[in-house]
Amino acid sequence: MRIPPTNFKLTHHHAFRNGRAGYSCDIIKGMSASRPTHSFQTHAFQTDDPRLAPIHEKVLAGQRLDAADALTLYRTGDILAVGWMANSVRERMHGDKTYFNVNRHINPTNVCVAACRLCAFGRKKDTPGAYTMALDEAFETAASGYSEAVTEFHIVGGLHPDLPFQYFLDLCAGLKQRFPQVHLKAFTMVEVAYLSRRAKLSIRETLEQLKASGVDSLPGGGAEIFADRVRHIICDHKIDGDQWLDTARLAHQIGLKSNATMLYGHVENDEDRVDHLLKLRALQDETGGFQTFIPLAFHPDNTPLQHLPKTTGMLDIKQIAVSRLVLDNFPHIKSYWQMMTAKIAQISLRFGADDMDGTVIEEKIYHDAGATTPQGMRREELERLIRAAGREPIERDTLYRPVTRTETSVTVAV
Ligand code: SF4
Repeated sequence: MRIPPTNFKLTHHHAFRNGRAGYSCDIIKGMSASRPTHSFQTHAFQTDDPRLAPIHEKVLAGQRLDAADALTLYRTGDILAVGWMANSVRERMHGDKTYFNVNRHINPTNVCVAACRLCAFGRKKDTPGAYTMALDEAFETAASGYSEAVTEFHIVGGLHPDLPFQYFLDLCAGLKQRFPQVHLKAFTMVEVAYLSRRAKLSIRETLEQLKASGVDSLPGGGAEIFADRVRHIICDHKIDGDQWLDTARLAHQIGLKSNATMLYGHVENDEDRVDHLLKLRALQDETGGFQTFIPLAFHPDNTPLQHLPKTTGMLDIKQIAVSRLVLDNFPHIKSYWQMMTAKIAQISLRFGADDMDGTVIEEKIYHDAGATTPQGMRREELERLIRAAGREPIERDTLYRPVTRTETSVTVAV
């Protein structure tokens, strides 16, 4: 899926006015004709930064941006111009539609053999705060949020040195048996690679067994930043970037969709972020298996990197916008409200994001790292935030099929 060019004849004039490049075009007329319910941008593109003019031309024509363009987008101070372009793409792809789902996070264990410096969640076995759910406990946890008519269980955890592969197969099979209509989005590429080592299976065999036990798709975590230099500092014990991409490729090849993430706002630089985005875009060209890209703001509290400052609102919003513009083959860009606060996530719906994640009952990983957002949000509140941004809330399932609810039933359009 590539971003289509706009279906209008470009009539912008390209003159710089008072130091700002002004573009007026009939984008509004052209798009309104094809999608009448759409609320379109009603002002001309303007920028203080002449380097953005050729990028704007490419965006309007639906042309792919290159590494130099992406670097310019990161380095310009004109966030409004970057946001304008990202929003035009977002509206071209999704109109006002803004997706969310009703999900529950299940983190079966925080015991982890790795010691990533980015992490406040993992614990060594037998240290204070370490926990591992018995299977029955995990099933009880799943059931305790069920009154919300959950459509997805998001299951991720630590790399436990003793839990056998069978535990994870039984966990998924047990959840599927108890909640057959709930989608299991389970295990990051890092967990899959670790489970394959523990089970002495190939990655493909591991994925196939997980799929057979009930896993429907994979989340996008563990990607962090692919560049080795950064990985050595923040997550030396994890699989490297190429292994993450290889695991995602195999998942897609056996029919499991996945998401992809990028952890930003720590020791990476602009080039590292661009490299990360372009590697994801290249794999997506190959497999088409990614659904959503989720930029994750780094939370330093309670990690060995807690001397680092938190991300700023400008960086959070720019990251969403640059992702939308560079990842032209990703259907969705998510502003994950748990990481960037509900307010920034809401604003980002006008800067390229079309998804706000979900109700996220009992999020643990980012709250251990100091996130001050609530651990969950009710569906009504998510809808209110989306409407207040002038967008149309659409409850979706994990595969972006619309969910319709009545007092007594939940229906997924297939
Ligand atoms: S980030 Fe994941 S792999 Fe690394 S220490 Fe934390 S739980 Fe373990």
